[in-house]
Amino acid sequence: MKYLLWLGVIAVVWWVWSKRQAAGSARPARKTPPDAPPKAAPEAEQMVRCAHCGVYLPASDSLTKDGDFYCCAAHQAAGPAAGSR
Ligand SMILES: [Zn+2]
Repeated sequence: MKYLLWLGVIAVVWWVWSKRQAAGSARPARKTPPDAPPKAAPEAEQMVRCAHCGVYLPASDSLTKDGDFYCCAAHQAAGPAAGSR
């Protein structure tokens, strides 16, 4: 009969513990830090620099001419800045 009592105590402890675990997992703040994404960052695209004005932009948004990157058609037509470095 003594073992049955212990079994009951263990069952209650396990039930409370599992309830706490469920409540803890409901809060996402503890398990997943916001600044540590498990997958690759979506902004992993290569950034290029406009040869005319020096602004940085995604490679897919840039225009190219003679191996240089430009942010817009106007700067592409203007070409590299004369005094850039
Ligand atoms: Zn530019």
